[in-house]
Amino acid sequence: MRRIIVQKFGGTSVADTEKIKNVAKIVIKEKNNGNNVVVVVSAMGHTTDHLVKMAKELSKTPSGREMDMLLSTGEGISIALLTMAIQAQGYDAVSFNATQAGIYTENVHTKARILKINTEKLQHNLNEGKIIVVAGFQGVTEDGEITTLGRGGSDTSAVALAAALNAERCDIYTDVEGVYTTDPRVVPKASKLKEISYEEMLELAHAGAGVLHPRSVETAKLNNVALRVRSSFKTDDMGTLILGVDKMEIDKPVTGVAADLTQARIVVCDVPDVPGQAAKIFSKLAQENISVDMIIQSYARKVSNTNDIAFTIDSADIDKTEETLNKLKETLHCGEIQINSDIAKVSIVGAGMIDRPGIASAMFETLARLGVNIKMISTSEIKISCLVDKTDANKAVQALHDEFELASDVIADVKGDLPPQ
Ligand code: ASP
Ligand code: MG
Repeated sequence: MRRIIVQKFGGTSVADTEKIKNVAKIVIKEKNNGNNVVVVVSAMGHTTDHLVKMAKELSKTPSGREMDMLLSTGEGISIALLTMAIQAQGYDAVSFNATQAGIYTENVHTKARILKINTEKLQHNLNEGKIIVVAGFQGVTEDGEITTLGRGGSDTSAVALAAALNAERCDIYTDVEGVYTTDPRVVPKASKLKEISYEEMLELAHAGAGVLHPRSVETAKLNNVALRVRSSFKTDDMGTLILGVDKMEIDKPVTGVAADLTQARIVVCDVPDVPGQAAKIFSKLAQENISVDMIIQSYARKVSNTNDIAFTIDSADIDKTEETLNKLKETLHCGEIQINSDIAKVSIVGAGMIDRPGIASAMFETLARLGVNIKMISTSEIKISCLVDKTDANKAVQALHDEFELASDVIADVKGDLPPQ
């Protein structure tokens, strides 16, 4: 039996036809190594952003179904073009959208989870020696409705396919050379990690390190998929391997620093201090499929007997959240609802912080020295996150990277704009 390798190429790797030719070469090389190859691609360049922009020009809250109909078209273009490029080199290849590939999801629009993958057709085509090119990011429901997995979801498509096909490896090809201790555009001396555990990668992905879609890491961890992040442009570099924490040697308390600039903070003010209020707010948001990240409830004020409930959401959900909370206002008997998207979540992550006291205080002291005000704090076993002003994010990341001695001796070779502040 030939081994199966799943390769995933992101938008920048297929941004134009020259780049698509380059991808075809990488795919063919793997095929010539004697492996069966399944390729997953994202939409070309900024196609998805462009489609989202057009939708927003037409409607403040476009329906989820039509968003999925629209956004899934991006990947439809890249699979066909890549397949043509591979065929032009004399190799047998076939493209499949999610329906054809049998990627079934739950019946939820714009952030569906994959439920199962029917691998029969894929296996059959692999057995015939074909290279298979599958559209990332999209899925189909039992009823044949098109869904998408959430922005950046092609990584998850690739890992889910690797798990379902029992692939030897899942290589995520991207425009960076691997996973870094922090964003090298912010800190040029960021170090490339040779390996990182699923657990740390998961926290970093949730903390805003843009390299991998968080659910792809979850899926890899659950199914023990050997996952590698590597560059489409420097293919001799093996990038970063993501593996179980039990297989790793841990030396430093902190592995990486990340900033998430895509969140917004919501404060529901003056909520009467009686049972059931938080349940009302968060069950309504859950019904609307709005994910909540950090949550803080203030200590109840004695005089008014009310408290404030603050939490963060993805900025993309601001309008829906505002609408949902406004409808709840009367049943909650609360005060005003404040929304602030000029915030950033800065996090330090490391399996090495377990059982090592003083890491949180070192983080807070570093931010204090910079005069950065902390608005919210949340922690897990291997992560500490602070919510700060968006304009403070980059300098906080730089200082924390120094504080926890993550710098490398070499300047990372990365292009691209700084994340917006
Ligand atoms: N094209 C989709 C996006 O831009 C999915 C992906 O790139 O992973 O979010
Ligand atoms: Mg992506």
